[in-house]
Amino acid sequence: MGLETLLAEKLKDTVLLSKMDAVINWGRSNSLWPAPFGTACCAIEMMSLFANKYDLARFGAEVLRFSPRQADLMLVSGRISIKMMPVLSTIWRQMPEPKWCISMGACACSGGMFNTYTLVQGVDQFIPVDVYIPGCPPRPEVVLDALMEIQKKVRGEKLLDRLHGE
Ligand code: SF4
Repeated sequence: MGLETLLAEKLKDTVLLSKMDAVINWGRSNSLWPAPFGTACCAIEMMSLFANKYDLARFGAEVLRFSPRQADLMLVSGRISIKMMPVLSTIWRQMPEPKWCISMGACACSGGMFNTYTLVQGVDQFIPVDVYIPGCPPRPEVVLDALMEIQKKVRGEKLLDRLHGE
């Protein structure tokens, strides 16, 4: 019996092999810490998402962080005025990498029905958005779906790409 076969035989019940990317991304995707940025009616639906009925803990994302340094998922819900945008982008910049962003509702995605100079016509003009949720307001189930999209995205990330800034 060759050395490799002997080792495989000895270790088969005690050693689990995987890729570093897969292990780290699995941990990250199941422990996203959202920073809620709610400004209007969509935020009411967002709050119900955090209540027990929808049980965000199933996805490991129930730990809301109001300190951006401790958050890795920005959840923008509601209308964002031009005056409010510097606050949002400052909070976004304070969040450490890697980080992701969900834009919840028509207003956050595109200004919605408020085609006016006082409102940002889509937060993606100022910060990068990973998942857009249409609707006025979207139901909490759709936000759960968006969260699962983010999880898929996190699981597909390559750590070396991140290290090289790609
Ligand atoms: S999309 Fe509709 S529910 Fe959401 S903030 Fe705008 S007006 Fe309110």
